[in-house]
Amino acid sequence: ETAENYKAISAAEFFYKYKEIAGFANPARALYQTIRELVENALDATDAHGILPNIKVTIEKADQIHEYYKITVEDNGIGIPPHIVPEAFGRVLFSSKYVLRQTRGMFGLGVKVAVLYGQMTTGRPVEIITSQPGLRRIYYYKLRIDINKNQPIILERGSWRKNRDWHGTIVSLTIEGDWSRARFRVKDYILRTAVVTPYANIVFMTPEGEIYYYKRAIDKLPSPPKQVKPHPYGVDLELLKRIRETGKYATLYDLLIKSFQSVGDVTARTLISQAGLDPSIDPMKISDKDLLKLVNTMKKYDKYRPPTAQALSPLGPDIIKAGLTRIYEPEFVEATTRKPSAYQGHPFIVEAGIAYGGKVPMSPSDKPNLLRYANKIPLLYDEGSDVITAVIKEDINWDNYLVHLPAPIIVLVHICSTKVPFKGVGKESIADVPEIRKEIKLAISEVARKLRNHLSKKIREEEKKKKIVN
Ligand code: ADP
Ligand code: MG
Repeated sequence: ETAENYKAISAAEFFYKYKEIAGFANPARALYQTIRELVENALDATDAHGILPNIKVTIEKADQIHEYYKITVEDNGIGIPPHIVPEAFGRVLFSSKYVLRQTRGMFGLGVKVAVLYGQMTTGRPVEIITSQPGLRRIYYYKLRIDINKNQPIILERGSWRKNRDWHGTIVSLTIEGDWSRARFRVKDYILRTAVVTPYANIVFMTPEGEIYYYKRAIDKLPSPPKQVKPHPYGVDLELLKRIRETGKYATLYDLLIKSFQSVGDVTARTLISQAGLDPSIDPMKISDKDLLKLVNTMKKYDKYRPPTAQALSPLGPDIIKAGLTRIYEPEFVEATTRKPSAYQGHPFIVEAGIAYGGKVPMSPSDKPNLLRYANKIPLLYDEGSDVITAVIKEDINWDNYLVHLPAPIIVLVHICSTKVPFKGVGKESIADVPEIRKEIKLAISEVARKLRNHLSKKIREEEKKKKIVN
């Protein structure tokens, strides 16, 4: 037999077949991942839009015989325009986050893989209730995904008048899960989320009926991210073609000035002349060869301003300290936000916080307890292969900071970027990029020095007390 069967599959079919790469490898992981995707969407819909989040997460046993769980997440966010709902929940690779702006979501994938997982394990559809601020009605949808066509199938829809000024979204999904194996991770995920969102009220109800309530501890939100233009350092031939195909630019000069950040009059003219082109040429008339010349010139040029950090939304030291305090009530807490930096044309900011003593648990003996975050998402799996772990184990000598492990110390590291170099689409660990590694080390050392001051003062005071007693 030599004949092959050739066919194309849809994006929905691809992720239906390879759901483990999106974090849905088994019923325990799937339960954790579903909660993560829903909570991240809920937070993106609130804090990135200037709304103090109220988030409610409920997990209920949904069947007498099978291990089916109904997961419901409610937020008070910006809602979703009703005509968009079917695509947002029923078309894989559909998103409002395909722009240069820091968000938790970015692939247009998460919630759809959860919907697919639900429909393949329990056959139950996703339910969405949503309303935007200012709308008079609340909209309701029940839908599933047509896997072959990568399209939503609407099973039910409806709307009713609002009798109070509610806005936000409630999403319910029923999946086969393994709560007893997922319980620890899910609780840990919610706790770690609560650490970096002290400005949120978070209520979490387990299938056993336990209620965890993290009450808002600070009324300040991180400054919302702004959408920005690409930096020329990250340009390629396709990007330039796609920009010119918008047809918005009369001349090459115009295109460069208006569609890239860090390119002003002088830079634009320099780039064009170095590429041997004419600034007044119609971008549509440039040959591929000339366009490629321009791409190479743009990449080689080294006098750009670094990429803007306006697209980023760091937490800031106040929020990090409030978050660590809300959970650990430590005797010492400090935090820092480094200045923006860049790798391969992508801006990033590293933040670090340390809590010591109080309710901080004892660390293992080879490193402090660690809380890793990327774009405000807690990272729980694959700690061993994360660059942050490498830094706290290999680049920092904790004894130099008077921290003799094991100790009641927890280190928080947050990396925000328009492109976090995750090692996979499951978003669980960060690759070892030298520029980022260096900033992580600087951030932690800065806070660790303050901890050393605190600890050495404490030692001196204890010695003084001893002398008085003797
Ligand atoms: P991503 O978060 O990566 O964009 P998702 O599949 O998780 O992809 O979500 C698709 C889109 O649906 C989001 O980009 C967002 O526009 C919208 N969305 C999902 N959940 C919510 C929510 N709770 N509130 C507002 N919008 C939402
Ligand atoms: Mg998402």
